[in-house]
Amino acid sequence: MRRAYNSVLRLPQLSPCPQCGEPARPHRVCPACGYYKGRQIFTTTVGD
Ligand SMILES: [Zn+2]
Repeated sequence: MRRAYNSVLRLPQLSPCPQCGEPARPHRVCPACGYYKGRQIFTTTVGD
């Protein structure tokens, strides 16, 4: 009667960011690139 799914269901749902491809939470600003719905919400300092 072990439920193998339990641990899986508790994981936060992550979907690849359409902008950078990093796993990010849906309906949230991507922490990796700062994009949300095709708009850049904040500027990341990664790079330059
Ligand atoms: Zn991103």
